[in-house]
Amino acid sequence: MALDSAALLAWLEKVAGRLHEQRAYLTDLDAAIGDADHGVNMDRGFTAVMAKLKAEGAPHDVQDVGAILKTVGATLVSTVGGASGPLYGTAFLRAGMALAGKTALEPADIEEGLQAALEGIKARGKAQAGEKTMIDALEPAVSAFSAALADGKDKAAALAAAADAAEEGVRATIPMLATKGRASYLGERSKDHQDPGATSTALMLRAAADEG
Ligand code: ADP
Ligand code: MG
Repeated sequence: MALDSAALLAWLEKVAGRLHEQRAYLTDLDAAIGDADHGVNMDRGFTAVMAKLKAEGAPHDVQDVGAILKTVGATLVSTVGGASGPLYGTAFLRAGMALAGKTALEPADIEEGLQAALEGIKARGKAQAGEKTMIDALEPAVSAFSAALADGKDKAAALAAAADAAEEGVRATIPMLATKGRASYLGERSKDHQDPGATSTALMLRAAADEG
């Protein structure tokens, strides 16, 4: 079934709930290599996102999936400080622009949105894979999603493959040297720690896979 505004809201609701539950965990990860605010940032951002979408009347009064994604992005940019607000904000804004006017997403549209989000994060953060950031979860996830569709898999199977690849990407950040963001200030001491941003990215993709 195509992904409509109601399904998008259900996913965002799940993401907001899990970020709230995992707030201390994400913050602990950031305490080790950053400034101990990633969980707080993400929880604040998605609480504001859900309030804003509710105020706008989504998913019933706003059915344009692209418009909803743009609202998510703009709200994250304005309510989350630090690196992750502008980065996730750009990701959702770019996905929203790519999907503007659509009320139901086919799997190929989801692929286009994921690709636009990844390109947005890379451009905004001037980063690439291997630098111990959210890109290390998102890039393999987007590749896995595309590969699954090319193999003839359906949306649910492609999302599951994306979430698995993201989680593998998160584990791969542990030995990496951070060369972007606050963690890069630690130099060699950034090694042997899991990246918080990659972890929140995988959480969002797992929520999508669980929605099916
Ligand atoms: P801050 O580092 O400003 O405190 P957060 O703690 O909310 O912001 O987010 C930190 C996460 O942001 C990191 O774990 C990393 O995944 C991501 N990040 C930081 N800088 C970049 C960048 N240039 N490109 C991509 N992701 C980045
Ligand atoms: Mg931080």
